Amino acid sequence: MAEVLEIQEDEKKLIQHAYRDLLRCIKSKMTAQDQIDLRNAYELAVEAHSQQRRKSGEPYIMHPIAVAKICAEEIGLGPTAIICALLHDVVEDTDVTLYEIREMFNDRVAKIVDGLTKLDSAYNRTSPQAENFRKVLSTLVEDVRVVLIKMADRLHNMRTLGAMPRHKQLKIAAETSYIYAPLAHRLGLYSFKIEFLDLCMKITDPENYYGIAKKLAQTKKERQAYIQEFIAPLSKKLNEELPEVSCKIYGRPKSIYSIWNKIKTKKVPFDEIYDLFAIRIVLDVPFNKEKLLCWQVYSIVTDVHTPIPERLKDWITTPKSNGYESLHTTVIGPKGRYVEVQIRTDRMNEIAERGFAAHWKYKGLNKQRDVYERWLDSVRDILEDPNSDAVEFLGDFRANNLFNEEVYVYTPKGDMQILPLGATALDFAFSIHTDLGYHCTAIKVNNKLVPMGYKLKNGDQIQVVTNKNQKPNEAWLKMVITGKAKSKIRSAMKEERRREGLIGREALERKLKNMKVDIDHAIEMLVKYYKFSSHVDLFYEIATDALTISEIFKTFRADGNQLAEIVEEEVVKPEPVQEPEVKRSRKKNDLKPRLLINGEPAERFDYTLASCCNPVQGDQIFAFLTANAGLKIHRANCPNATNLMANYGYRVMKAEWTNTTNTTFVADLKITGVDDGPGVIERLTKEISSNLKLNIRSFSISGDEGYFEGLISLLVANTDQLNVAIQTLQNLSSVSTVTRLE
Ligand code: MN
Repeated sequence: MAEVLEIQEDEKKLIQHAYRDLLRCIKSKMTAQDQIDLRNAYELAVEAHSQQRRKSGEPYIMHPIAVAKICAEEIGLGPTAIICALLHDVVEDTDVTLYEIREMFNDRVAKIVDGLTKLDSAYNRTSPQAENFRKVLSTLVEDVRVVLIKMADRLHNMRTLGAMPRHKQLKIAAETSYIYAPLAHRLGLYSFKIEFLDLCMKITDPENYYGIAKKLAQTKKERQAYIQEFIAPLSKKLNEELPEVSCKIYGRPKSIYSIWNKIKTKKVPFDEIYDLFAIRIVLDVPFNKEKLLCWQVYSIVTDVHTPIPERLKDWITTPKSNGYESLHTTVIGPKGRYVEVQIRTDRMNEIAERGFAAHWKYKGLNKQRDVYERWLDSVRDILEDPNSDAVEFLGDFRANNLFNEEVYVYTPKGDMQILPLGATALDFAFSIHTDLGYHCTAIKVNNKLVPMGYKLKNGDQIQVVTNKNQKPNEAWLKMVITGKAKSKIRSAMKEERRREGLIGREALERKLKNMKVDIDHAIEMLVKYYKFSSHVDLFYEIATDALTISEIFKTFRADGNQLAEIVEEEVVKPEPVQEPEVKRSRKKNDLKPRLLINGEPAERFDYTLASCCNPVQGDQIFAFLTANAGLKIHRANCPNATNLMANYGYRVMKAEWTNTTNTTFVADLKITGVDDGPGVIERLTKEISSNLKLNIRSFSISGDEGYFEGLISLLVANTDQLNVAIQTLQNLSSVSTVTRLE
């Protein structure tokens, strides 16, 4: 094998070429030392990876060089980060040690490479992804560059995912859309986020992805002509009125993922989506004239095209908390179509595309307190909470700190606080100070008393009233949405439970001591037997008499120094109970579709088709090992899939259909249309049963003023049959839309 692995002469040229290409992309200034370090990093990486190849067959070193190039070119990172990117897989995959890296370069480089290595090793083990995410965030607060390089690494892996086996593609895509895309959004790396989501969709939903891509290509000419028609009068007027300002105007296509989202959420076909692009006007003006000139341009835009006032968004006066600044408006363009126009400066544009990284460059120019510092503070707060459970943490964090827009409110002194949209008065109290939250008894908004769960609105002024004797309770958890408030309430309650459980603990330990059994072992066993999540819960239940000591010792007795379950003969389940169980599952299997799971015939596994997405033969699918219901087969684009794969990637197995089967599948369709007479139901059912020869499992229809909406459950053999059915129904004159429910 060695001679195959050896790097060939022509490959050496390829590698050198890639490296020179990387050097050309570096925009930041490099000292003589930087240049030496960079060269050394390159040579070390080439040497260290010389025996490795990627799945695609190319020399492994091409990967770190590509990652370094993304860091330099697309994020605009400086020499240290580029050096670290070249070395990012060296410690993980080769004999080179961290010690050697520290000796050769410096502490900083070693630290970042160490962070990257730790992140990687976390991913390779079968630990739940929630725990990994926590690691990602810990490295983020230490040195942001670790996460930025990790993003570049992930982006390159996603771009070259084609060579990977299918089930790995799905797993990586899920993790990317669950963790990296939202994080890119939060860090303002907008172009990364878009590319992540598009690449994920290409893998999880190739049919719709390529479908939209094709339609975009087909309509490109028409769209470009329209954009020209829109821009021409605008350009002319801008030149007349602001001749001294140089600006670029262009149409910017929306991503395939966002178009697909619109089709899904608005339930309209592709042809009815008009905002397939936005018009962007980017001004080259000095910092102190930015706001004034952006508004002047706005005024010119709205002179040429009529604006829709409620669509005006001013993120220049109040930037988004990920740093985004821009002025957005929607106007009515030629042919009466709505067109979004984004007005911003070069600086704002760079921040919008590169977020965090560009932000550094403009740090001195910031009007407000650094938006990222504030966000990092909140991340640190959550990370420092020793009680928070990784999965809870990830859920909260994703929901509140990554995606949402925010609401701007004020303290009684007039200081502005930014909270995620949907945050409550109680969230506000916790955001100011933990003690203020703990002891909060009443809250006034704009001088009126409100419930603690009151949802904050922009501009609210909030005053918190406290009482020393107040403390959090279970109900509070429902009144907050921020991760910080939730984790603080949870840990206060856990502490309370622990305190209350002390009596239970003493009573149990006394009893166990009398029985002369190993106390720790016995408690461990009881926690498991009663399925408590912790010792604290066991003690608490005993303390509150929910589980009494005498009850426990009806079930357990001492056996030597151990606790053993008392087994009564007649209670033992007789063996034969197993028998019908097996028979039934065998019988069920006869009706089951033919599948391969991890390459083996599915009959060997206990599996069912997931009812959340009802996969049909021909759908892209995967198998998921559930905790107690065997394997479930889901569609790759099932709404639950991302969550499952991202959190429990190690339980995902490859599944594929085998060709022949007589089995049928349930597919749910939603049909809407115009109710033009009493015959609609008959026509639909006739079309389905007589013409398409399909069985209907259930059919419900409701109508209102000439419009009807029907839900049909069909039994089909595969996706081809389903698609024919959808097409046929769509062609009926009274039907306007047919959509398969996810
Ligand atoms: Mn890598």
